[in-house]
Amino acid sequence: MNDVLVMTEAGLHCPASGFHIDPWQGVDRALITHAHADHARAGSRAYLAADRGLPLLRARLPADATIDTLRYGERRRVGDVDVSFHPAGHVLGSAQIRIGHRGRVIVVSGDYKLAPDPSCDPFEPVRCDTLVTESTFGLPVYRWQPPQDVMRALRDWWSANRDEGTASVVFAYALGKAQRIAAGLAALGALPGPIACHGAVARINEAYRDAGVALPPMARVADSGRDAEWRGALVLAPPSAQGSAWLARFAPFRTAAASGWMAIRGTRRRANLDRGFVLSDHADWPALNAAVDASGAANVVVTHGYRDEFVRWLAETRPGLAASALATRFEGEHGAAGERADPP
Ligand SMILES: [Zn+2]
Ligand SMILES: [Zn+2]
Repeated sequence: MNDVLVMTEAGLHCPASGFHIDPWQGVDRALITHAHADHARAGSRAYLAADRGLPLLRARLPADATIDTLRYGERRRVGDVDVSFHPAGHVLGSAQIRIGHRGRVIVVSGDYKLAPDPSCDPFEPVRCDTLVTESTFGLPVYRWQPPQDVMRALRDWWSANRDEGTASVVFAYALGKAQRIAAGLAALGALPGPIACHGAVARINEAYRDAGVALPPMARVADSGRDAEWRGALVLAPPSAQGSAWLARFAPFRTAAASGWMAIRGTRRRANLDRGFVLSDHADWPALNAAVDASGAANVVVTHGYRDEFVRWLAETRPGLAASALATRFEGEHGAAGERADPP
């Protein structure tokens, strides 16, 4: 990456300015793409991030963390480079980080998606010489349906469950996915019943509301009595609640998960879920290709997921484009194996 960015023990590092991007261990100066735990880690002396995500970072990092922010598009000189954050469309406050150094531009995408999401700012293509892109779903089989269609299917499933007198429990990452579902359902109009949520989701809801994102009312399950009535309700819970004793209170209930991994045959059955909704906060195959093309980058560095497959595809289909893979420490962070782990 023209030596502007180098891979170190702590992660991607920019020697000309002294910062690391989403470092894996404590550093002096950390630039953070978004608040998911595998990107925003505790232990650094100072953080710089997009201001839209500040309430989320405050909720996730230690109370005494020093966090400075920039508005999307605002530039700051850091050492010998110009830094700015641009919407990545992944979760609230998520950003691609643009680094300008002596006339060359590198963009580190972080996690991103191009599909519409009423709970965060839409992805904005940024022109650059070098693009560092994720490829969590970098295979041609991954093609997402329009999210409105998925929301409609989820609402219909909820309605049918309500008519049969059961609760509907949906497992979704507490940071981002749960809020996207709630906002997406509300955007469809009248809801089939009340929405309730796990405490982990409620904490993040607060940060979203503090940032000005409109979410429908969601009762915190813990605030309801043991004999509360859940028939007809939609319950948003983190994947870690799957199979837990916490679920017993909702009986009778049906379960579903909302994740990109639901696109893989057998995932739903193996997880013992009644339904799987394919809803991802990562770019699908067409979106990865579109993002590469929209960047105009002559160099593309691929991290996460199906790296080698995507690199090979780019080399075959874009003559003149230099593509390479970059190993990262936390492979498969959002992978099938981690699907039931705590929300990232
Ligand atoms: Zn993420
Ligand atoms: Zn990630």
